[in-house]
Amino acid sequence: MFLRELTESAASIRGAGQKTAGLLAAAGIHSVAALLARYPRAWEDRARAAPLGDWARGPVSTTVSVIAHDWFGYGAAKTLKIHVEDESARAVLVCFNRPFLKNQLVVGKRCRLWGRFGYRYGELQSSAFETEPENAAPGIVPVYPLSAGLSQQLLRRLTREALRQYGGVEDEIPAAVAASRGLLPKAAALRAIHFPENMEELEKARQTLIYEELFYLETVVARRVLARKKRPDTAEIPRPVFSPLQKRLLDRLPFRLTPGQEQAAAEINADMTSSRAMARLLQGDVGSGKTLVAFLAAMRAVDEGGQAAVMAPTELLARQHAETAARLLEPLGIRPAYLAGNLRAANRARLLKALAAGEIDIALGTHALFSKDTVYRKLRLVVVDEQHRFGVVQRQAILSKGESSLEGGEPHLLMMSATPIPRTLALTVFGDLDVSVIADLPLGRKPVKTHLAKESGAGRVYDFVRGELRAGRQAYFVYPLIGENEDEEAKIASASVMAETLARKIFPGHSAALVHSRLDDEQKRKAMEAFRAGEAQILAATSVVEVGVDVPNASCMVIHHAERFGLSALHQLRGRVGRGGEQAYCFLIYSETEAENGERRPALTEEGKQRLKVMLENNDGFVIAEEDLKLRGPGQIAGIEQSGYLSLGIADPVRDADALLAAREDAFAVLGNDPDLLLPENRRVAEVLERAPPFSEAGA
Ligand code: ADP
Ligand code: MG
Repeated sequence: MFLRELTESAASIRGAGQKTAGLLAAAGIHSVAALLARYPRAWEDRARAAPLGDWARGPVSTTVSVIAHDWFGYGAAKTLKIHVEDESARAVLVCFNRPFLKNQLVVGKRCRLWGRFGYRYGELQSSAFETEPENAAPGIVPVYPLSAGLSQQLLRRLTREALRQYGGVEDEIPAAVAASRGLLPKAAALRAIHFPENMEELEKARQTLIYEELFYLETVVARRVLARKKRPDTAEIPRPVFSPLQKRLLDRLPFRLTPGQEQAAAEINADMTSSRAMARLLQGDVGSGKTLVAFLAAMRAVDEGGQAAVMAPTELLARQHAETAARLLEPLGIRPAYLAGNLRAANRARLLKALAAGEIDIALGTHALFSKDTVYRKLRLVVVDEQHRFGVVQRQAILSKGESSLEGGEPHLLMMSATPIPRTLALTVFGDLDVSVIADLPLGRKPVKTHLAKESGAGRVYDFVRGELRAGRQAYFVYPLIGENEDEEAKIASASVMAETLARKIFPGHSAALVHSRLDDEQKRKAMEAFRAGEAQILAATSVVEVGVDVPNASCMVIHHAERFGLSALHQLRGRVGRGGEQAYCFLIYSETEAENGERRPALTEEGKQRLKVMLENNDGFVIAEEDLKLRGPGQIAGIEQSGYLSLGIADPVRDADALLAAREDAFAVLGNDPDLLLPENRRVAEVLERAPPFSEAGA
């Protein structure tokens, strides 16, 4: 049996009842498999002695005698304190909610003690401690992620018992692969990840389980790639042959495509005319004109009698795409529609009906485009804009929307991103895509001029912006916070407060609109419309305007507390200006200190300084992404960590890059040679994968 086939309830574990099973279920552990696959987040080596006197160096692990009991607090809050000592020092165990310890740790008793200690109220104290009988053999002990009602002791006991009852699981990785990579058998790895004999064994178990996860991830990628027979990267670039609607769209534009756009369009056209579905990643810096390339692809889909769906990560951006589509495409007789989650029911029902009937040619929106009740008559193209969180599994889910309506299978897929993707992630999450790059910006664009200013010098920035506003230009003001009460003490400027101040005091005579994520869709739409139409010359915002917003008349981007923003956010924000032919400016206003507990503390870290410097010296998104990588380390790049890109259990594709490459090579070799590779009991890799993926990608 495979681990993931242990679907029995945890109540079947000896010593666990329905109550325990309920606590586990509340923590998302619904089966024995889930319990065993909840790997420790750390391990404590208690075999190594660490006396009380060494408390400052880490957890204490020692043998103590109990010397006295006393109590503090009253009534329900009455708390037991147990005084203990070893040869090196005395200490106090504070027994919150553990009054029963008074009977277990009686005065004079000796026991093994483990815990983290610190000085409080003049005593060496711990409230996070554990004790065991004096003769218990200290070993390496797992430390689990906890949630309500679960204690380390409970999880350890259950896991140990579950291993005893169910631990004899089968290997899932093909034997030849396991042998060549020197992996432990799955059963051994599983036991050792929870209760290793020694650190060496633990490390082997970790490597085995990491490899296993990555192998399965790459199997999914490999299956898609092999099914599609990915084009070699060096394929000859075809000359663009535009379809009728594409030609009409191009004729209406006041400008010509850049060479980069033209090449990307040609590659997309070639994909869309070939017999198999396109799966392409379009990379291009902010402002390189990806939207237009996507619309060209949509025109071809419509020319072929199909529908296109364009998905954006935020309502703001989705709405803007819908407006651009209305402006550019409606005159060509195309029927666009905007579909977001919060449409009124009647409206939504009407739109869904029209979509299913094929009366809508291009649907633009958020995730709602792919909700369960959304049906397309003939979905031929899916465009996913600025959606880095979209991994292999989510893509598969979306593409299956089209399968039912398109003879010949999946619709074409175009993913668009301004964020350069680190290589390891390119191999995992985007490992099955062909890539087009728009390396140039539209002609006549002048690079944005960037200036740094201290908070105290903001007045001079305002003076400059005033001049631009008088000349008819527009300006963004971006703040790290939305409202008044957040982080008030630190006196961090917030968007909603400043929107008022900007319009009333700083720029009287000019009006300001406000957008942030807590406004509802209608309010956001109004604010953006006012700004786009020039009724509001100033837009006060949080970083919601970071991605995609396109108002070419805006020439100033003023970012307050720039030290609080990451490099990729700063670059995206700066990319909101410089979209017309006029010179544009970006002002990064930073504070060196901020208030905390009535004192000033430094706000500008060394890394923050470095970020501002990078922004000052570079305009190129790819260079900035590389600097970001250097500054932050690969694990955190581009919001990948924060967004829970891939919630693998134990593997981290960036940290475990070597294992990833090995797993990739093996997965391709295995599936390439023998896609029906047999596992124990004559089961196929593919079958196993289909039934229960061993990992899940985080939902976007
Ligand atoms: P991004 O790649 O950041 O998504 P957009 O698609 O929003 O960029 O395009 C940025 C701006 O450039 C838009 O205002 C768009 O109309 C304009 N644009 C697109 N292509 C060209 C071009 N070839 N020449 C001039 N302007 C262009
Ligand atoms: Mg865009």
